[in-house]
Amino acid sequence: MLDEELTLKRRSVWKRVKETDRDDIESLSKEYRAFIDNAKTEREAVKLTERLALDNGFMPIEEIERLANENEDLDLSGKRGYIKNKDKNIVLFILGRKSISEGFKMVGSHVDSPRLDLKPNPLVETEKYAMLKTHYYGGIKKYHFANIPLALHGVVFKRDGSKVDIVIGESDNDPVFTVNDLLIHLAKKVQYERKTPDVIKGEELNILFSSIPDSETKEKSKTKMMALRLLYEKYGITEEDFVSAEIEAVPAGRSRNVGIDMSMVGGYGQDDRICAFCSLKALFEMDVPEFTSIAFLADKEEIHSEGNTAMQSNFFPWALSKMLSLQGDASSLTLLDTLRRGKAISSDVGAAVNPNFPKVHEENNAPRMGNGIYLQKYSGSRGKYEANDANAEFVAELRKIFNENDIIWQAGELGKVDEGGGGTIAKYMARLGMEVADAGPALLSMHSSFEVASKADIWMTIKAFKAFYGSI
Ligand code: MN
Ligand code: MN
Repeated sequence: MLDEELTLKRRSVWKRVKETDRDDIESLSKEYRAFIDNAKTEREAVKLTERLALDNGFMPIEEIERLANENEDLDLSGKRGYIKNKDKNIVLFILGRKSISEGFKMVGSHVDSPRLDLKPNPLVETEKYAMLKTHYYGGIKKYHFANIPLALHGVVFKRDGSKVDIVIGESDNDPVFTVNDLLIHLAKKVQYERKTPDVIKGEELNILFSSIPDSETKEKSKTKMMALRLLYEKYGITEEDFVSAEIEAVPAGRSRNVGIDMSMVGGYGQDDRICAFCSLKALFEMDVPEFTSIAFLADKEEIHSEGNTAMQSNFFPWALSKMLSLQGDASSLTLLDTLRRGKAISSDVGAAVNPNFPKVHEENNAPRMGNGIYLQKYSGSRGKYEANDANAEFVAELRKIFNENDIIWQAGELGKVDEGGGGTIAKYMARLGMEVADAGPALLSMHSSFEVASKADIWMTIKAFKAFYGSI
């Protein structure tokens, strides 16, 4: 055999890119940037996904049910549908030529990202400033959220149950908010002796909200009173309304091109909306697949997939039953059979080798940005605890699909052994019986306020998902 065939070499996607592909990559990345700029929370991601789905010929499953009821001979193959779960989780599908019970191909990602959530009673007055108290969500280095412009995104359900959508800090005319760090001149004793995770502590993640006092009020907290007055005038909300609200403070502003060669995208929330975007793009481009193709966008991954909008909930089996019932048999045994025949990519981001901190990675098993979709057999930490360790048989299947479709891919794991670790939704999919392995683009500065991805990897990941959906 040739040495070439015996060895596994890293391949740069950029070397494969032809002049004619450049426009493709650039227009894809523009579309991608618009997606992450307009989907900074799980709710916004689901809303935007629903709109894109409708634009691409998908319809609510009830619509397909209605058509099927009207016409018993209706050919269901190629029907494009979706099911939403409480505005935070959505599943899209294209029914295949084969019946669903013969199996399905699914790409699952998550659309929640680390951020600061407002507390139930967030508004306080401190040193005559109105401040918003927060409780961080997911894994953040708390100091990443200090000294940057923050926007508030979310929903408030008022006393009468009516809903107010809130986005403040994204348009040029909007104010932004911020968490104030301590100036260097006074940091020596209070801050410099702290360990890094405590540079800013949880209870110091308070958002500067306003500074003008209400001189008319008899209330003691005059600035807070003025803030409440403004909130009421603008949004009709009162202090008690915060209790039934979900307001997330996220880095304000849009994503940017990164690098003199414009080869990368920088921005907030790419973990894991980059995979959600790639799965949607791939699905939208499918015609009538052999097997039913599914894109699943989960919520709450960053807090271990707990709750009824997360991968651990029964939403997916329920949604799959709904799809099965379109074809007439949604018995519990058929559902379990179908799950066992399902094949899935748990699509989440990898940690690309960081040029500033290369030592946390083990060179032979570390993904690199621009080297294509990153296939991860297992996740977990400290001896693969809490991992989904994909079956070698299924990894072989994915590898074959990628190779046969000229996909540039790489394999590895998250950092050096015992250096850290992490999980994805893969294990919760595996629990249902389906074959599942992790694959997605590798990012720099994952979980930071400015994550970086390679445009070439986005391009390649979409190709990989298309090949997977189209595989037999
Ligand atoms: Mn994450
Ligand atoms: Mn993730």
